[in-house]
Amino acid sequence: MSSAAYVDTKTGPAIMSDDVDAALDVGDLHRRQLEAEIKKAFTDYSRNRPRSLQKTLGPSEIGSLCKRQLAFGVTAPTMGKGTNVYGDVWRSHVGVALHKEDELVLKFVNEQAGETVWIPEARVKADDEHPGTCDAFHVPTSTVVDWKHPGKFMFDHYRKEGPSWKYRIQAHTYGKGYARLGFPVKFVGLMFISPASDLHHGFLWLEEFRPVIADIALANLDEIKAKCADLDVVNHPERFAEFPITPGDECRYCNWFSPKPSGPRQCAGK
Ligand code: SF4
Repeated sequence: MSSAAYVDTKTGPAIMSDDVDAALDVGDLHRRQLEAEIKKAFTDYSRNRPRSLQKTLGPSEIGSLCKRQLAFGVTAPTMGKGTNVYGDVWRSHVGVALHKEDELVLKFVNEQAGETVWIPEARVKADDEHPGTCDAFHVPTSTVVDWKHPGKFMFDHYRKEGPSWKYRIQAHTYGKGYARLGFPVKFVGLMFISPASDLHHGFLWLEEFRPVIADIALANLDEIKAKCADLDVVNHPERFAEFPITPGDECRYCNWFSPKPSGPRQCAGK
């Protein structure tokens, strides 16, 4: 800031504006304002990505064990998507950025091999209503692979406990999407590499492709949709309370999470 002086007409002594800034802590105010502006830019960008704005549930969401979250999700096209202002977008930002690099790795492998070893980022549909983009398909082994880049805590958790059902359902849903395109899908996998660790510690979870797992998830979703219609939750949102909640680690990323709900389309996760 430029330093300027002014004179108090009653007392006479000149006061430097820097002194005033210091007294009011204005210098740090500018820093804090700019910091807030930067964080807002990341948050707004993340919340306005096409994937964030998609209105139908994708494969990464349909496997939620929380029926309330699914009910909120399937009615989002009519009622609008919730915005979890408490959720921090940084991890999803890192995840998206890493996925872009992951795609380049697979393209590099294909170029080096002179053939399609991997199919990266393909749009697939387990059914017509819930399309999604599958991270990777390994052609020689007919294996669907989804990248997972959790923080160290959840990385260690998945290594010890295995993936969540939500992740497994997501993988099988992509498998079903590829099968519908005529691919002979044999396995589905989740490749865990944490940005807080190194490649050496990454691990691949793998299991045989079982389309019934995707079928069960999609049937569950149909039941939720039917119940939403029966209860007419669009006009009676208080009836969302009829859907049981399953609080867990997912709550802080849930679009409808609020520690102090201000309406029936918010949930405190407990
Ligand atoms: S905040 Fe948690 S319990 Fe509530 S709807 Fe979302 S996932 Fe379910």
